[in-house]
Amino acid sequence: MPLKAAIVPVTPFQQNCTLLWDEETKIGAVVDPGGDLDRIEAGIRKIGMTPEKILLTHGHLDHAGGAAELKEKLAGIPIEGPHQADKFLLDGLAAQGLAMGVPDMRNVTPDRWLAEGDKVSAAGATFSVLHCPGHSPGSVVLVNAAQRFALVGDVLFQGSIGRTDFPYGNHDSLITAIKTKLLPLGDDLVFICGHGPMSTIGEERQTNPFIQ
Ligand SMILES: [Zn+2]
Ligand SMILES: [Zn+2]
Repeated sequence: MPLKAAIVPVTPFQQNCTLLWDEETKIGAVVDPGGDLDRIEAGIRKIGMTPEKILLTHGHLDHAGGAAELKEKLAGIPIEGPHQADKFLLDGLAAQGLAMGVPDMRNVTPDRWLAEGDKVSAAGATFSVLHCPGHSPGSVVLVNAAQRFALVGDVLFQGSIGRTDFPYGNHDSLITAIKTKLLPLGDDLVFICGHGPMSTIGEERQTNPFIQ
């Protein structure tokens, strides 16, 4: 499998910033750089990858709070995602960071918003975009069907699902998105989520209490 991935936990929320790279060319992407850029940059150096893109699954500060600064440090590489419905979150990152005791968070405007059915090229692979609102209105899941791999952000976790108790959260939408868009991807599909260990669609279909 030419596509490789490594997780760098960042921020006090232990968010899984994910480094993706092509094994042969070492061209890569950084997914959800919420903060702790020194750790992310150390990971990039250790792998020896050349980041060409930043991807955001949704607009929460632990996922997107470091994106603007990382873009600057990486010579302005483009930021793609999330869906435009999370613009209000990205516009409020600095204020939210201050309120949560995590300074250094910056507002960010992506170079490209993503919508259902869009294709994203990253790390030598092509990902399909699924718009999966509920945890946040603009949450997206990125799927590489050929290599049986997905990045699901905070939509689905091992044994759990994203929280929906924010004013803009919607539990029913989240469950519908998981059942109609993620479960049909197939039991063998491996995914990295925003927090905690990796899992597979099959494991969650069989054991996750929220989607039985
Ligand atoms: Zn979140
Ligand atoms: Zn999160």
